[in-house]
Amino acid sequence: MSGVSGVTVEARTEGAGRERAINYYRPPPLGALPRGLQPFPTVHLSRVPFCALRPVRVLAQGALALVCATAQAAPAPPPSACAQWLHRLPGVQAKQCAAAQLTPSGGHSQQGRPLFWRDVQPTGNAPTPLRVLVVGAMHGDELTSASLALHWIALAEKARRPVHWRFIPVLNPDGLLARRPTRVNARGVDLNRNFRTPGWEHDAPLYWEKRTRKDPRRWPGPAPLSEPESQFLHTQLESFRPQLVVSIHAPYGVLDFDGPHEPPQRLGHLRLDRVGVFPGSLGHYGGVQQGMPVVTIELDHAQRMPRDAEVRSMWNDLLRWIDTRLIPPTRKN
Ligand SMILES: [Zn+2]
Repeated sequence: MSGVSGVTVEARTEGAGRERAINYYRPPPLGALPRGLQPFPTVHLSRVPFCALRPVRVLAQGALALVCATAQAAPAPPPSACAQWLHRLPGVQAKQCAAAQLTPSGGHSQQGRPLFWRDVQPTGNAPTPLRVLVVGAMHGDELTSASLALHWIALAEKARRPVHWRFIPVLNPDGLLARRPTRVNARGVDLNRNFRTPGWEHDAPLYWEKRTRKDPRRWPGPAPLSEPESQFLHTQLESFRPQLVVSIHAPYGVLDFDGPHEPPQRLGHLRLDRVGVFPGSLGHYGGVQQGMPVVTIELDHAQRMPRDAEVRSMWNDLLRWIDTRLIPPTRKN
């Protein structure tokens, strides 16, 4: 195949009054093929799980076509979380990622990618463990937030606390895996403005128009919970009923808190700096409306992981705060 290269073309997905360009692979013209090399037949991407990028037929030739044509003949399981994400995650080794044992949750992104999760159950005899939900990469271009969640899965396994952890390291895989990672999901929605907070229909679009000047990175979407990713997280809040949500972001280098309880003053070197609430944000919905404590971590960098010592220090401070504020003495068994 050397010397033969395709180009990308734009297709457009429909969606709530705005279109969004997605680049698809298109093969070179037939005349450019070396002698003896035939194009692959036409395949429907939509029939193949791996190729669930909806709208197109591709006259195919090249790596993508080979994968899709093979999958059509014998449907293959979707690639693992690590196979999909690892190249995007700073400071995560393949071995670490595999050890995290992420499995498909059953939820999917806008473009059909599986949302992966991992539950870490408490060790020992904990009849009523504390339920803690940890969410990374709600904003797809905050790569370190997913990496930190993966690192913390290993630490949770050793934590010896009466805690049932649920990790969702990448809530926005379409943003993370976009050719250039994006904060928003595949429909251009900022998932952290898409939760159902009081007066959303009025406040969220107004805030977007007036305060962000229609920043496309902060579009709250056409309606609350309009997106499969925010719906999935909302379902988790309803069914898992976490008693603490830890939402990991970057790159503002602060710690925020919404909800009842005395907030943690610091995690590692990050200091508490309450930045207020936004219409449609998870902190506003979970912390203010539902009375569910939400710790929001803003790492210093979106693409460069903190050192291992800092990763552990943040974790240990979180555990200390959980021990003090959330686990009554009778449950510390
Ligand atoms: Zn963020």
